[in-house]
Amino acid sequence: MIARQVPRRAMLKATGLAALGAGLSACASRRAGSLVSLEPPRRFARVHVSEDRIIRTVVGLRPFRASGFVVRVENVGDKTVVHNYGHGGGGITLSWGTSALAVDEAWKTGERRFAVLGCGAVGLASARLLQQRGAEVTIYAKDLPPQTTSNIAGGQWAPTSVMDRNRRTAESDALLVRAARLSHRSFQQLPAAEFGIRWLENYVLSDEPLEQWWEQELVRDLYPEWRELGPREHPFPARYARRFTTMLVEPPIYLSAMLRDVRLAGGRVVVRELASREQVQQLPEPVVVNCTGLGAKALFGDDELEPVKGQLTFLLPQPEVDYMVITEGLYMFPRRDGILLGGTFQHGVWSLDVDEDARRRIVAGHRALFDGMH
Ligand SMILES: Cc1cc2nc3c(=O)[nH]c(=O)nc-3n(C[C@H](O)[C@H](O)[C@H](O)COP(=O)(O)OP(=O)(O)OC[C@H]3O[C@@H](n4cnc5c(N)ncnc54)[C@H](O)[C@@H]3O)c2cc1C
Repeated sequence: MIARQVPRRAMLKATGLAALGAGLSACASRRAGSLVSLEPPRRFARVHVSEDRIIRTVVGLRPFRASGFVVRVENVGDKTVVHNYGHGGGGITLSWGTSALAVDEAWKTGERRFAVLGCGAVGLASARLLQQRGAEVTIYAKDLPPQTTSNIAGGQWAPTSVMDRNRRTAESDALLVRAARLSHRSFQQLPAAEFGIRWLENYVLSDEPLEQWWEQELVRDLYPEWRELGPREHPFPARYARRFTTMLVEPPIYLSAMLRDVRLAGGRVVVRELASREQVQQLPEPVVVNCTGLGAKALFGDDELEPVKGQLTFLLPQPEVDYMVITEGLYMFPRRDGILLGGTFQHGVWSLDVDEDARRRIVAGHRALFDGMH
């Protein structure tokens, strides 16, 4: 999911820009006298934002590393540990891709019995990929769905906010592209409805010209229907708008389907916290895939890992809303378990407490946005 979207001054104003959308209903426009579009007008259901429609507010900690996620082999005593963690704000998105890379490494050992540490999106994808190769898998995890950080994720497919732009290298770019492409394909191989996956239009909005996001530029072809929109081509109170289409992967549905599949394929799931490398060494399986997310900081001493606190408020579901919106400091995803309103990105904050000021800001910002639609 995307951390920084548009220039600072670009907060949406609910007033003053309404006129920009006038004429949206026109189903055809003329340029130099010729008819250029015959698309029927697209209808946008308005999101109803009010305090009395709130059903919950949740907080999660993104497992962020400035230099990017880790896929790496380490020997711990007589065990081979394949690390697969540190996906920041894109762990649902990248889960199948980095897991494919990690499983390739694990398979090279020649062993066929594996421990997977962690039962979030990354651990579950690693477990399924190992099982698909015929391996015997045991998951060890302190928390299972619905208690993981992966359950808090919004679920937009977007390999963004996964590392610090200033730490990019040719290698990290290549790794990100590879993981993103593998993952994008894997999500499409799943039965979409059963796994809570849908393709939805995204509208990125601003009153300032929109920046390009470097992560998106790396894999632009994975964002179909990308287009900069003119003011008459969308109903939102914003001067600039960009549209593209992505998958929305709804974590509550997706993670429980994944866990069910792990179990159906004979996987064992052990609820257990591992406190040290020594305890990892004592596991019966010879190869360990470490998908402990932020937990890897303490368990394997990765000082670079830091939390990025995120907070989401959910409103009553509105099944008629079929688009996502992203603007500075705000985003809306229409999930079956509620209209999700985000969000916050607080580096280095470990608290899981709801920030009431942030909640009010997020709700008020979305209210202004959707009340300003025409
Ligand atoms: C508000 C918010 C919005 C987000 N939106 C998106 C989004 O739209 N798209 C997207 O792709 N990503 C999003 N993310 C990021 C995403 O949630 C994470 O990148 C992802 O969940 C990381 O998955 P994971 O499996 O590595 O970690 P987790 O889901 O945290 O799973 C870690 C597992 O390891 C276990 N574990 C940890 N330590 C130990 C230990 N010592 N012993 C045993 N078990 C241990 C845990 O119990 C858990 O089972 C969002 C995150 C937040 C907070």
